[in-house]
Amino acid sequence: MSVVSNALVIGGGIGGLTVAIALRQQGIAVDLVEIKPDLSVYGVGIIQPNNTLRALDKVGLAHKCIELGAAFPGWRIHNAAGNFLFDAPATDSAAPGMPPINGITRPLLHQILTEGARDAGTRIQLGTSVATLNDRGDHVLVRFSDGRTADYDFVVGSDGVYSDTRRRLFGDIVRPRYSGQCVWRYNLARPSRVEWGELYFGPDSKVGLVPLSTDLMYLFLVTAEPEGARYPQSELAALMRARLGYYEGFVAELAGQITEPSGVILKPIESVLLPAPWMTGRTIIIGDAAHASTPHLAQGAAMAIEDAVLLGELLGDDRSLDAALEEFMRRRFDRTRYVVESSQQILTWELEQWAGIHNPAARPGELLHEATLALMEPY
Ligand SMILES: Cc1cc2nc3c(=O)[nH]c(=O)nc-3n(C[C@H](O)[C@H](O)[C@H](O)COP(=O)(O)OP(=O)(O)OC[C@H]3O[C@@H](n4cnc5c(N)ncnc54)[C@H](O)[C@@H]3O)c2cc1C
Repeated sequence: MSVVSNALVIGGGIGGLTVAIALRQQGIAVDLVEIKPDLSVYGVGIIQPNNTLRALDKVGLAHKCIELGAAFPGWRIHNAAGNFLFDAPATDSAAPGMPPINGITRPLLHQILTEGARDAGTRIQLGTSVATLNDRGDHVLVRFSDGRTADYDFVVGSDGVYSDTRRRLFGDIVRPRYSGQCVWRYNLARPSRVEWGELYFGPDSKVGLVPLSTDLMYLFLVTAEPEGARYPQSELAALMRARLGYYEGFVAELAGQITEPSGVILKPIESVLLPAPWMTGRTIIIGDAAHASTPHLAQGAAMAIEDAVLLGELLGDDRSLDAALEEFMRRRFDRTRYVVESSQQILTWELEQWAGIHNPAARPGELLHEATLALMEPY
């Protein structure tokens, strides 16, 4: 039986909802607070490599994601002229029998996780955050933004890359770092010829096509942008099309369909890695709050979900809280650091190449392949 009988989860994102489910499955009472007035999420998609599905399967949600998403076997690589170069099949070695990669819209993934958390009995409080956390040794006294107070055996901060919980526990020892790249994303109808994920490499940008359902996909475009770059929302479609101007063939055809400025999601790529341990007393940080990576391995959400599922498993037996959290750090820190550092390395090599710098040591394709295989191993 768990030494934790009740827990507070701060943040209703991918990590927070998953940890709520994982803790509930161990019989732990869970309250979750989300600062936004709803559990909405922006409308493009997310890539779920096979290890994400392995973790989601442990809380019973992988099959739902596969059912509502689009499985694909790997990446079809092209140059900017649209010429096919080669296929890079992905592996299903983490969860044999499940797709090597599943694409799913973020709203559908959120719906699956929200329903999972609610069905498991999580009490979700929207439009609420934490005002103070007071660790009294044998419990944490929490005062919420609405003035309520409650005692918890355990608190999980899963409040994203700008985590307030991280700052509360560790001050400003780490801050999110802008990488020099931004990602532009747009949903498009999926033509029948898009059977794999597709990648197109230009001289100073790259483009990807990610299947999300039988008739939907999203196009992502990664570009170098100055820090703090802000563009009027009304101009985003034209700006995205302009940046796709170098591409020919299929991508040029798709660029012509990017017409609705409000459909363009533009995000800066940032990363952060909190040194171990991620806990003080009875509060721990997980997900992007502890280890936000650049999306070059498509492993950010995967790592948040793995954190959540493992935490549930370790708190589900009768070991002490300290022993459970020590084991958690032993199994999570090196793995998430590897994701943050490898993703950053690929990004750095890309920026060098886009700036015309020849680095003979650069091997982004090989590192992507090696890292993807390594992450399928048990942890
Ligand atoms: C451009 C881009 C593409 C990506 N693509 C992929 C991909 O294809 N595959 C993949 O695996 N990962 C991808 N990621 C990473 C992935 O989106 C994140 O790793 C994942 O969302 C992290 O989940 P989280 O729950 O830790 O944080 P979040 O999803 O950021 O959730 C944090 C939640 O906490 C809430 N919150 C914040 N502050 C408070 C507070 N004080 N009190 C209460 N609630 C609070 C927020 O409103 C939010 O709901 C991508 C990231 C980017 C930027």
